[in-house]
Amino acid sequence: MDYRDLNITPFWPDHHPRPPDLPVADELPSAVDVAIIGGGYTGLSAARTLAKSGASVAVLERESIGWGASSRNGGITGCGLKAGAPTIFKRYGEAMGRTFWQASLDALDLIRELVDEEGVDCDFQQNGDLCVAFKPSHYEGFKERLAWHRKHLGHELRLVPPDALREEIGSPAYFGGIVDPHGAGLHPAKLVFGLARVAARYGAQLYEHTTVRQVRREGGDFEVHTSRGVLRAGEVITATNGYTDALVPGLRSRVIPVGSYSIVTAPLPPELRAEISPRGRVFWDSKWFLNYFRLTPDGRMLWGGRNNLSTSLDLEVSAR
Ligand SMILES: Cc1cc2nc3c(=O)[nH]c(=O)nc-3n(C[C@H](O)[C@H](O)[C@H](O)COP(=O)(O)OP(=O)(O)OC[C@H]3O[C@@H](n4cnc5c(N)ncnc54)[C@H](O)[C@@H]3O)c2cc1C
Repeated sequence: MDYRDLNITPFWPDHHPRPPDLPVADELPSAVDVAIIGGGYTGLSAARTLAKSGASVAVLERESIGWGASSRNGGITGCGLKAGAPTIFKRYGEAMGRTFWQASLDALDLIRELVDEEGVDCDFQQNGDLCVAFKPSHYEGFKERLAWHRKHLGHELRLVPPDALREEIGSPAYFGGIVDPHGAGLHPAKLVFGLARVAARYGAQLYEHTTVRQVRREGGDFEVHTSRGVLRAGEVITATNGYTDALVPGLRSRVIPVGSYSIVTAPLPPELRAEISPRGRVFWDSKWFLNYFRLTPDGRMLWGGRNNLSTSLDLEVSAR
């Protein structure tokens, strides 16, 4: 393939564009209970919860709903955080470690709730995830991981010895694996647009092309200055992720954007899909700067990693 044929726009919203009938509002209200800055998973999920409990909520999104990382990620959901649970327990203590772990389980439950109870169709497939050992020593580490999770969290993982790996993945490149049956894959863009609909259904008002420029304390409230006017809010939630700028000075030194890129193939023949992922698992490897990969719901291979931390990589140059 010639790199010039490469489409460098994000795959998921190309595949499932923002629905034209997404219920967005027009005119800013003069006051709300809660103003939420950012219309990705964080902002929309907070909006859903708050609106459901009766609060008046405005979600203020600079671009369009789901424009940020929420429509351009790997769509892999799993238990735990980037740093493994043993590391988190050691670093922050058992109580905090358990809280983090539980939060990751709750996040998975929330997705299931959105799918089963709120009718969000996001191609959620919970067939488990497989972490593959990049080096033989990593497989030894998997044995310790299994024992630790069983003992401290009562969470059951399953080892895949090197000679059984072919039943799990169509690649001879790895040295064994470990399966978490709770892992899942989904369509990120469908999730974010579905979540937006649910939040709106509960009464949250969604505003696109609305940049928040300043947030000022005014008495007991906040004055939120946007590109479309000013609104008062009892509370403000900043859900701007790696796009956080000088808006909230306290966040500037805490949120550090890093680049993360993925590449997606054309749809693969059914036999090849079955060979790559015979059990429909999602995958990642055991490197610190890990690679993650999976089949998309329409049978493409998605491959992602953190090979370059720049947020402004020239994708065409990189493809060459
Ligand atoms: C390539 C890639 C792959 C990933 N893969 C996975 C994965 O497989 N599994 C996983 O769990 N996570 C993955 N992630 C992480 C995941 O996508 C994010 O953690 C998640 O989407 C964050 O959601 P969010 O709502 O916090 O932020 P975002 O979705 O980024 O939303 C923030 C929004 O804030 C808006 N905004 C910023 N400033 C302002 C302002 N001043 N006024 C108004 N709006 C503003 C932005 O326009 C943006 O839309 C991946 C991320 C990337 C980039």
